[in-house]
Amino acid sequence: MESPVRLESYGEGLKIEWSDGVIHRLAWRDLRFACPCATCRVKRESPPQPSAPASVSGSLGLTILTAAEAQPIRATKLRPVGNYAYAIEFNDGHNTGIYPLEVLRELGMEGTV
Ligand SMILES: [Zn+2]
Repeated sequence: MESPVRLESYGEGLKIEWSDGVIHRLAWRDLRFACPCATCRVKRESPPQPSAPASVSGSLGLTILTAAEAQPIRATKLRPVGNYAYAIEFNDGHNTGIYPLEVLRELGMEGTV
């Protein structure tokens, strides 16, 4: 299991330098979306709101955000949890997400630039 040797905020996200030399840039927005806490998992797995009017939900996979959701997501706090995870607090007030290192690593692998 690789471990991060350096974590650094680059503004829009988190830059992680791993012990094997790989560097990942994870956008806060992607990290927030991938939040592994129970609340967010349930939210992601629940079916889309059937009450949304067709004109808003659209047919092109377009997501209309509320004003609160539209503000750029960023982390306000990053706290190590033991030596296996990081707790991330976001500016939307969400602070229950604990990201195990393997989750961060997987997210980085998916979005490698
Ligand atoms: Zn969450």
